[in-house]
Amino acid sequence: MQTQTMACTRCRRLFNYIGGERLCPSCKEESEKEFQRVRDYIWDHKGCNLVEVSEFCEVSEKQIKEWIRSERLEFYSPAGDIVCEKCGTPIISGRFCDKCRSEMVGELKSAIKKDAPAPPVKKDNSDHKDRMRFL
Ligand SMILES: [Zn+2]
Ligand SMILES: [Zn+2]
Repeated sequence: MQTQTMACTRCRRLFNYIGGERLCPSCKEESEKEFQRVRDYIWDHKGCNLVEVSEFCEVSEKQIKEWIRSERLEFYSPAGDIVCEKCGTPIISGRFCDKCRSEMVGELKSAIKKDAPAPPVKKDNSDHKDRMRFL
């Protein structure tokens, strides 16, 4: 596996990047702790809002949203902090609501159908004519 020296997005320290989030090993560990803190807080405080979670856990709202968008975290927000990127319906995780997601799957399927070759046209017209002539 090839490694690359990169600057950690949190502490700017150089480290050997292997993949995933661009965090050095110590920040990665810290990030993991933050994730668990946020997850536990949300678990214990159903109905809390994003600002509250962010302040209490000392994790940026941007980071929490990133976790939610990447479906690592589910967040039941009564304030509608997380909404579907397509129609704006409040959601708990990911980027789209169930309705938009299934609509997109449907669009994908019909797109595949369009690309499929048309069924072969029956070429029995001339045969039929010939038979008619002999009748
Ligand atoms: Zn770091
Ligand atoms: Zn939607």
